[in-house]
Amino acid sequence: MELFRHLSVYDYGEVHFKLDKGTGLRAIVAIHDTRMGPALGGCRFIPYDTDEDALVDALRLARGMTYKAALAGLAHGGGKSVIMRPKHAFDRVALFRAFGKFLEDLRGHYITAEDSGTGLEDMEVIRTVTKNVTGIDPSHGGSGDPSPFTALGVRRGIEAAVKHKLGKDSLAGIHVAVQGVGHVGYYLCKELHAAGAKLTVADVDPLKAERATREFGAGVAPIDTIAGTVCDVFAPCALGAGVNDSTIPSLKAPIVAGAANNQLAEPRHGDDLHARGILYAPDYAINAGGLINVAQEVMGYDAEVSRQKTLRIYDTMWEIFERAKRLNAPTYKVADILVEEKLARVSKEPKHSSPAA
Ligand code: NAD
Repeated sequence: MELFRHLSVYDYGEVHFKLDKGTGLRAIVAIHDTRMGPALGGCRFIPYDTDEDALVDALRLARGMTYKAALAGLAHGGGKSVIMRPKHAFDRVALFRAFGKFLEDLRGHYITAEDSGTGLEDMEVIRTVTKNVTGIDPSHGGSGDPSPFTALGVRRGIEAAVKHKLGKDSLAGIHVAVQGVGHVGYYLCKELHAAGAKLTVADVDPLKAERATREFGAGVAPIDTIAGTVCDVFAPCALGAGVNDSTIPSLKAPIVAGAANNQLAEPRHGDDLHARGILYAPDYAINAGGLINVAQEVMGYDAEVSRQKTLRIYDTMWEIFERAKRLNAPTYKVADILVEEKLARVSKEPKHSSPAA
C-alpha cells in the first residue's frame, strides 16, 4: 500500500490505526485538519475487502468533514473513523468499548458520531470509556436523531435557491421532487409540506413513498424517472452520485438541492449543471444541519441553539449563489473556495490542544 501517497492526495494530516487482538478490532481514525478545532465526524462500521479500501474511505470522508464544518462556521476540523466489520462472529459491545479506548488514547483530537453501520447503542457503549463521542441518547444529554436538523437546513437551502433562481420569497406552490424519503427525506417533505410546497417522491421502499402520500399528499414517481420530473426543485435525498451522466440530460428542474452526500458523481457534473443553467446547492453546504446539531452536543446540548444555527444555512447558500453569479462559476467550486479562504485565515498550526494535555 502506498500509504504516504494516499495521505498526500487527500492533503493529510494525521492517521491512527488500532489492532486490538482481544476483540478483533481493526480501526482507522483519519484526522484531516484541526485548525478550526478538534476533528468531528462519524464512525463507519462496514465490511471492507481490503485495508486499503478502508483507509481510502476514511481519508476521503474526513476531508469532506473539514469542508462541511468550516463552511458551517463550526469550531471543528474534519475527521472520520472506520471499523472494519469482522467477517467472523464478534462481540459488538467489546468491539465498541475497545474502539472507545482507542479514542480516549487520542486525547480529544477526534470526536466520533454515528455513520453507516453504527447507531445510538454503539455511541452509548463508547461513552462508557471516553467523552469524545456525540450522538448519544437525549436522556444522557445527547442530541438524538440528526435528521430533522438536516432536513431543516435543506429546507432553508431550498428557500435560498428558490429566491435566487426564481425570485420567489415563499415555497408556496413550489414543486419539489424528492428522491429518497428515508430519515432526512421524510422530514424534508414535512418541512416543505408545511411551507405549502407540492411534492413528488420516489423511494425503492414503496411503504416509505406511500407514507409521504398519506401524510403530505405527495405524488409518487418511479425511481428511475424521478430526476426527470417536471418541477422547480430536484432534491436528491437517497445515496450519492444522483447527479451523473445519465440523469443530467433528463433534468427539467432549474434547481438541484437535496440532502444526499456526494451528489455529484464526479466534480465535472457540477460544471455540467452550471453549463445548463441549473442552480446546484453544494451538498456539504446545504446538508450541514445534522453536523451543526451534533457539534452543539460537544458544548452542552441546546436544541434551540442548534435550530438557530441551522436556519443560517440560508445565508451560507445565498453567499455561494451570489458569488457564483458574480464570477459566472459553478457553485460547487465557489463553496470550495469559501472553505479554503476560511482555512487559510486561521493558523497553519492546529489551534486545538486536547483537554487532557
Ligand atoms: P436513509 O437510508 O434513511 O434514507 C435513504 C432513502 O433512500 C431510503 O428510504 C432508501 O430506501 C432510499 N433510496 C435508496 N436508493 C434509492 C433510489 N435509487 N431511488 C430512490 N430512493 C432510494 O438515509 P438518510 O439518513 O435519510 O440520508 C439520506 C442522504 O442524506 C444520504 O446520502 C446521507 O449521507 C445524507 N445525509 C444524511 C444526514 C442525516 O442527518 N441523516 C446528514 C447529512 C447527509
